[in-house]
Amino acid sequence: MRRCPDCRLAVEGEWARCPLCTAPLTGESAPSPLPAVPLRFTRRRVLRVLTLTSLAVIGLSFLAQLLFDADRESIGALRSIWLGVVATWLVVLVAAGKRRNLAKFVVYLVALAGGVCVYWDYLTGWDAWSLTYVVPILCASSLVGLMITVRVIRMPVGDHVVYTGLTVLLGLTPLVFLALGWVGTAIPSALCGALSLVVLAALLTMRGGAVRHELATRLHL
Ligand SMILES: [Zn+2]
Repeated sequence: MRRCPDCRLAVEGEWARCPLCTAPLTGESAPSPLPAVPLRFTRRRVLRVLTLTSLAVIGLSFLAQLLFDADRESIGALRSIWLGVVATWLVVLVAAGKRRNLAKFVVYLVALAGGVCVYWDYLTGWDAWSLTYVVPILCASSLVGLMITVRVIRMPVGDHVVYTGLTVLLGLTPLVFLALGWVGTAIPSALCGALSLVVLAALLTMRGGAVRHELATRLHL
């Protein structure tokens, strides 16, 4: 039977790593006492569902823009949806490519795409759709990308400190514009701020075990 050197547990079955702490197991494997249950939720299926959902959301937003063009007030939200979906995917793909500077990339992405839209808004007579919708959607979708990344891709514990700071920054940016009175409607900025609090709480609780394990290992050495 395989053993975990950290938890001092015997593990039955073909486990390469400890199911509790993910430390490599030692010793000979024993037959699993559990029946083989097919996985109902695979990573590939998650990505396929996300892809189809993204395409559907973008398609519907363009269709809605076509139908409700007369309503100038809410067009900003619809106009920004594809940008948000693209931003989420860029964050996930850059993280999956194991780039070290994901946080820097997210800041550049939000600044560049937001800046382009602010200029576009300015050119078309400034009704503040860029600051009201684009900036909160970009920040919120980067937060979603960050959440997917932390869930799907294992990353070094040290990165969590950086991502925690980034989460605060992404939540605060739309709130600053809101406080300055530069936005048309408060709801998108407020929602983004609330989302960053949720992500912050998730980041601090989700990998808490890994952080403790990391600290314990280092202190043991
Ligand atoms: Zn263990």
